[in-house]
Parts: sequence; C-alpha cells; structure tokens
Amino acid sequence: MPAMTASTLRDLEHPSAFVDRHIGPNDAEIAHMLGVVGHDSLDAMTDAIVPGGIASRAPLALPGAMTEVDALAKIRGVAKKNTVLRSVIGQGYYGTHTPNVILRNILENPAWYTAYTPYQAEISQGRMEALINFQTMVTDLTGMDIANASLLDEATAAAEAMTLAKRSAKSKSNVFFVADDVHPQTLDVLRTRADGLGIELLIGPAGDAKDADTYGVLLQYPNTFGRIDDHAAVAEAVHARGGVVAVATDLLALTLIQAPGRWGADIVVGNSQRFGVPFGFGGPHAGFMACRDAYKRSMPGRLIGVSVDAAGNQAYRLTLQTREQHIRREKATSNICTAQVLLAVMASMYAVYHGPDGLTRIARRTHRFASILAAALGKAGVTVGDAFFDTLHITGVDADALHAKARDAGFNLRAIDASSVGISLDETTTRDEVLALAKLFGTDVDIEALDAATADALPTALARDTQFMTHPVFNTHHSEHELLRYMRTLADRDLAMDRTMIPLGSCTMKLNATAEMIPVTWPEFANIHPLAPADQTAGYTELIDGLETMLVEITGYDAVSFQPNSGAQGEFAGLLAIRAYQQAQGQGHRDICLIPESAHGTNPASAQMVGMTVVVTRCDKDGNVDIDDIRAKAEKYSDRLAALMITYPSTHGVFEEDVVAICDIVHQHGGQVYTDGANMNALVGVAKPGKWGSDVSHLNLHKTFCIPHGGGGPGVGPCAVKSHLAPYLPRALGGDGAVGMVSAATFGSASILPISWMYIAMMGADGLRRATQVALLNANYVAKRLAPHYPTLYTGRNDLVAHECILDLRPIKDATGISAEDVAKRLIDFGFHAPTLSFPVSGTLMVEPTESESLHELDRFIDAMIQIRGEIQAIEDGRLDREDNPLKHAPHTAMQVTASEWTHAYPRELAAFPLATLRHTKYWPPVARVDNVHGDKNVFCSCIPVGSAEDAPEAFSEPDVV
Ligand SMILES: *Cc1c(COP(=O)(O)O)cnc(C)c1O
Repeated sequence: MPAMTASTLRDLEHPSAFVDRHIGPNDAEIAHMLGVVGHDSLDAMTDAIVPGGIASRAPLALPGAMTEVDALAKIRGVAKKNTVLRSVIGQGYYGTHTPNVILRNILENPAWYTAYTPYQAEISQGRMEALINFQTMVTDLTGMDIANASLLDEATAAAEAMTLAKRSAKSKSNVFFVADDVHPQTLDVLRTRADGLGIELLIGPAGDAKDADTYGVLLQYPNTFGRIDDHAAVAEAVHARGGVVAVATDLLALTLIQAPGRWGADIVVGNSQRFGVPFGFGGPHAGFMACRDAYKRSMPGRLIGVSVDAAGNQAYRLTLQTREQHIRREKATSNICTAQVLLAVMASMYAVYHGPDGLTRIARRTHRFASILAAALGKAGVTVGDAFFDTLHITGVDADALHAKARDAGFNLRAIDASSVGISLDETTTRDEVLALAKLFGTDVDIEALDAATADALPTALARDTQFMTHPVFNTHHSEHELLRYMRTLADRDLAMDRTMIPLGSCTMKLNATAEMIPVTWPEFANIHPLAPADQTAGYTELIDGLETMLVEITGYDAVSFQPNSGAQGEFAGLLAIRAYQQAQGQGHRDICLIPESAHGTNPASAQMVGMTVVVTRCDKDGNVDIDDIRAKAEKYSDRLAALMITYPSTHGVFEEDVVAICDIVHQHGGQVYTDGANMNALVGVAKPGKWGSDVSHLNLHKTFCIPHGGGGPGVGPCAVKSHLAPYLPRALGGDGAVGMVSAATFGSASILPISWMYIAMMGADGLRRATQVALLNANYVAKRLAPHYPTLYTGRNDLVAHECILDLRPIKDATGISAEDVAKRLIDFGFHAPTLSFPVSGTLMVEPTESESLHELDRFIDAMIQIRGEIQAIEDGRLDREDNPLKHAPHTAMQVTASEWTHAYPRELAAFPLATLRHTKYWPPVARVDNVHGDKNVFCSCIPVGSAEDAPEAFSEPDVV
C-alpha cells in the first residue's frame, strides 16, 4: 500500500473516483498485467492492437468525470423536470402498484438483474422457475396451450403473431387482416413489419374479417377503446378458410372475461405491464405470446421447458428454438434474441404474490370503479360506451376543454379526437379519483348508492368460465415473508454477477453500478405514461437528447434513435433506414445484403425481415473476413448491393486491418455499411465507426453502456446513423417520418436510459477510454496466461486479441473426447459461469472478461481453467478414466457428492472441491447436467404438476425431434 501523501484539498478531491470503482484492476495491477502482455503502457498496448487507419487519437469531447454524488444530483435535477400527473390514458399502459417486496428484491436486486440469458441451464434454475411461472400464468389466462418467456412489447408481439400465422396457416393468401380497433402503436409496427416481408395488410372493422380472403387476422379483445366484442363467429369464418386467428388482449381483463382460447384464438399476444411494472415512459415491460400446441416449434422468442438432469431429477432448460438464429440464420423464425426477462419475472412474481383470487379482486375492483364512473357520467348525459372492463370511451365532448380541465385536476386523459376522450381505470384507482374524474364532467357521484344500483358492464355471454393459476405456486406465497423467501430461494439457485464474473464473449457482462441503477425507480422516471403530453416530459427530453449527444460523440455518427428495445431491433431499424434511403435515391431495387459467415445470427435474421437476400461471405484461416470474397461478391451483385453487415472488432475477437478498404468497396458498388456495434466495448474512446466509413450501427446499451442483462432483457439497441440516413430513423407514434415504428413506444425502453447516462457522466472522456483499454488488457492477460494450456484461436496485429479471446478446445476433444461443453459444465463446480460456448466457432469457448473484473477475479478464473486442463491431462495420461471423470459428470450437486453411495472412479473431494479456495465459498448447482435431447423431445412448458407420476411431463411426450 502506498502511503497516503495527499495533503491539500485539491489532492483529496478525487473527481474520477467512480472510474476506479468501475475498472477492476488498480494501477499496480495494470502495470503487472501489462508486463505479462508485453507492453509498457496502456497506450502502447492500444497502439499495438488498434490499426492506425481507424484509431482516433483526439480525446472524446465529453465533460470530465463526475462523482457518484454529483452525477446523482445532476440527474435528480433532470428527473425533476418531468411532471408526474395521474395518467388514465390507457392504450396498453395502466397504473399498477409494484409490490414493494418485488421492487426491492427483484427490480433492485443484482441477484436478478445481473444474471444472463439462461443458456447454462444448471446455474439458471431459479430464474427459469420464475419464467415458467410467467408462461403458466399467460397460458392459463389466455386459455392457450403454450406461452413463451416474454417478447419485447405488445406491438412487436403482434407483428410476431402476423409472421407466426403466415408460417402456420393453411391458407395461401398473402393478406393479413387487422381490426381497426387495435392500439395505434400496434398498427404502426405491423405496417412497418408487413412492408419488409411483402405481406399485404387489410384494415377494417373486426366484423369484416369474416368475409375477407386472408391467411390470418388480428383482433383486439377488449379493443383499444375498451369495448369487449364477441368474436366467435369471426374466428369460425376465418378458420373455415384455413386462416389463423391472432388476438391482442389484456391479462387483467381475462380474469373476468372468457379466455380467447375458448372462443377460437390460435395465437394470443399482449403486454404484462400492469402486473406490477411501472409505465417507465413506454418501457421496459414484458410482452407475451401464447399459441396452440401445434405452433410451438415455430413460435418466436425463448421458451422454458422441463427436462431431466443426469440424476433423473426434473430440471428446467431453454427448449426448442433456444439459439435458433445461430443455426437457422436468415431462415430463423424471428430475430428476437434479448427479450424482457427481468420484467417477466416481476410480472410472474406479482401473480405469485396476488394469486388467482387476488388478481380477480383487483380486476373486479377496477371494473366496479369503471362501472360506477360510467353510471355517474351516463346520468349526466355523457356517452361512455358499453361492454367494457376498465376503459370508458367518452364521445360527444369538447376534448380540448376537457383535457385542460383534467390537467388542472392532475389527470391525463387519452386524446382520441376533437370530440372524444378515453379514461382507463386500474389497480391504483381510488374513490377520490372517481369523484374527481366525475367532477370534470360537472357531476357528483354518490359512490355507495351507485355501487348498489349499477350492474357490471361486462357482457354476460363472455363471462369467464374456466379456472386459472390453480398450481400451488400461485396459491402459497401470499404473505410477504413467504414471497420474500421464495424469491430468495430462487435467486440462490442462480449464478449472477453478484457472485462471479460472467465471462461471456460478445455479451460484455461488465459492472452494473448501483449508482447507475438508482434513478430508474424514481417516480419522475418510472411513473410517466408513454403518451403523457410533451410539457410534462421535459426531463425525459433532456435525458434523451443528452444521451444522444454523448453517443454521437462516442461513435462518430450524427443521429441516434432510442426506439429499438434490443440489439436485434436496432439492426432491423438500421436496415430499414438503408432501404428507405436507397428507395429515395431511386435505388429501391437494391436487395442484396452481404454478411460474413462469422456474424451473429441476428444479422441474417434481421436482413430477411426487411426483404433483403443474404449472401454469405467467407472468413480466412485467421478469422478475418475475406476481403477478396467481399470484393468479388460486391462486384458480382454491384447493381443489387444494398448493404454489408460487419461486426467490428469481429466476432472472432480481432481488429481487422481492412475495415476501411471494405467500406470503400461497398460504397463503390452503391451499398451501405452496417456495423454491428455489439463489440463497441472495444472501441469507445479508441476508434469511431462513423468516422472510418460506416453508415449505421446499433449499439447494445445492455452490453457496452452498463444496462444490466436482467437474465435475458431488458435491452436498449439504439440505432446510430450518419446524417444522410437520419431522416429514415423510425418515427414517433403519430409522427410523419418516412419509416414506421419498430417498437410500441416512441423511445422504446426509456426508463432504463438513465443507467447509460449515469455511466457516461461518471466515467467522463478519459475514464471511458481507460475502460476500453483495460477491457483489451484483461482479455489479452487471460489469453496470454492461458496460452500454454488452451491456445487462442485467432489473434490480430502483434499477436494480440481485442476485448475477447476464443479458446480452441477442438484439439482436446480430438485427443480425449472432452468437449468444450464438458469444460463449461466443469466450471460450474468451481463456481463460474461458463464463457460463450461454441459461438462463433463450434467447439470453442469465447472469453470476454471486461474492464470491470479485477486481477484477483481473473486469476481465480485462470486458476480454475488451468486446474481443469490438469484434469484433462490426467485423462490423456490415463490417470483419470476417459468416461468416468469429473468433467463428463460435471456439474456435481450436493446430493450426489454426499450420497451414501459413490460409484465414480474419482474421489468425491475432487468432484466438489477441486481447488482449496472452494472450501470457503462454494456454489452448489441445484441440478446435475441437464438433458437437452430429452427436453426437446418432451416439450413441457408449464409449472411442474405436483403429485402423481401420471401428471409428470412424460405424459406429454411426442415422438419427433426438431
Ligand atoms: C448481442 C448481440 C446482438 C443482439 O443483441 P440483442 O440485444 O440480444 O438483440 C447482435 N450482434 C452481436 C454481435 C451481439 O453480440
């Protein structure tokens, strides 16, 4: 420890204190690691890695680093510029009470928000149980066979329903009918999506769907104005023509009205926001999709299923399409990768907390208030509509005058047109509110009298007649202690970043600092409805504009759209911009998208969504994209070339020398360059894609800019473009831009943008550059130290990697039969989350340590990897059996290791405590290795039935495999 020599106030005021908290290694450790890597300074190492042609040497023009205290004070000031009125706007977003026990122990708890997508099933059993609760809740309420573990929002879920219907319908029609009473944002997103896929939309009154020649229809129930119609006859007519019926719905209403599955729906979508997730100015919330069993193999998004582990116990895993973009590429069912896991977990816990009776009570109470208000207004001569759940469609009024009056009284009503408004009541509605709302119309309410005198406004023919959520999980944890302990039990089964580094290549699992997270749940950010009037959202405008300015400076682009709510949505938005730009230039025939074979699977999946034809280009033996192949294909398709999608630094973890030349080639042939910005953590402060010739990128704020992964979402995938593409960014809801919406809300998942804002503000220009440099250093340190044990597959200039390294385990497999997966599972016995397995190269592990991991944590990981290499050596030497060894049987559960009988050819101690340090802190996986084949053959995606063997998932066996 150096002695404390600072004495003046100036010395003691350390403005960049946060930087030292965010970056793992301290100066002395950095010096040591630089020695291992073979460079004198971070700058020298950076020069050796980053090609001179792209390096940007000028410091970022960003303000200096702020302390946590100052940054929080500043963003508090920004938040205060938002005005929180009580929004009864509805239109898909409703007031809700987030149970405090869920707020603190899920949303604000790193055990949940720092987890990754559950690819490693054995360390993800807790969140997968929460997600299977979500699936069961959605399945039950909608009356469908199966539901997925969340989609991005209701509008994109409807778009996915449109394409799922296309894949599934018997009808060969190319027309999709959309009822004209779906939410406006749903219609806008459907238009955007249909256009790219060449689907023709037919929009009209729901009843017209009966006679339309279409492959499918989308109805909304209750509709956007709150009306509940009986669609059974429409559904029957559509089915008779071989068409598919998709329905957008409201989960709370479904506790009282007939499940769509009972009257003919084939696909049901919606948003679970009102199950305890705040407005957040539009997001994030968990969209959902449920469908008939027959469609499960082409359903988009992640699906949690029940399988068995090596010990024969039930265990959860991602089933079916898990990573299908990486396998099916442009033939994938959708480009959805990141979804909304954290929000789905919140909604599922809300359902666990309230149970079916509690939810029904909330729904009934909401409906009673709506009925009473309707009766009061009816008496005053106001027309409010009938057959509703929570929403009054008020017509024949002076809307402007009413909105003004409402705002004075503290309310936002829904703006429909000059003579009508909407009022949606919800869980948070009180008696006083109903009185105040009635007053706006000049009438008083005697609540008790009206309550007694007023019948329900639900159509009796559509009263719900089926039970839901009968599983014990929804009927047990209703006291706060019970729920608290249930959530803790689940969290304890998982490995998240609050316990260990998660060195997943291409995922950038860096620190999600607490100070960054704090503003997210402030009411000024959380309680703003996405359609709140602009004069109430000045704080959000300042936040979003400020973040755009920061990202423009960091990337070298000119404009940013925050609408995309995942990286893949950002890709879609970027490609739409390219297409619209080319159309405006009279080049609309351009339709070829070149994509290197090393690209992330979402790239080809997104290209297909805008109607481009994917042409794959090769990589050379060093992992670089093959510039000759790109040139040849750009020439071959010169008159059709629309774009090249390239990831930089490459998914192989190297800074390719030729990127500037590649951009030139594409431009010469009339194409645009799309740079996948998921690897931006290797570039911030070091190089700017917008300056080296790229035209557009998406960024993953949930990678480089510290938004936590939440176990598989939320995410923000802003689309950053050069000025010529700026007019073609997605428009605002109701806006007049050339390109339609890609997400339901104008600013996507706005309420988590403070996280990235805080990160950039607290790091400052120098801190951001240093973070990138240490990310490069950490990756190279791991690669160098592991080199004698596991060769790194690809290196770039001067034998260095970028911010991640691919360890090649294929020779080990050939020599010993031990696979990369065996090593990944053995790491669990050491308490680690595995690196990225078999992407982008099969049989490898890709390690991305990020700048936030300390030398101590890196060494702990390296020690584990070396120990595992020793075990592999023992297999090679015959000291461990080729089949019965700790790798093949990893991970080991406490039950296995402590069982009276131990039949393995290696000692128990080696199984459980391969390093002495594990005796202090040991993570016990709750299940042994999970059987993937069994899970895909026996698809079962609801809560595990309690009781007899006949109820077990096997009963749902079906013979075929994918
Ligand atoms: C993570 C990633 C994506 C997709 O981002 P999502 O937010 O999961 O949709 C795209 N490309 C690359 C290279 C990535 O690593």
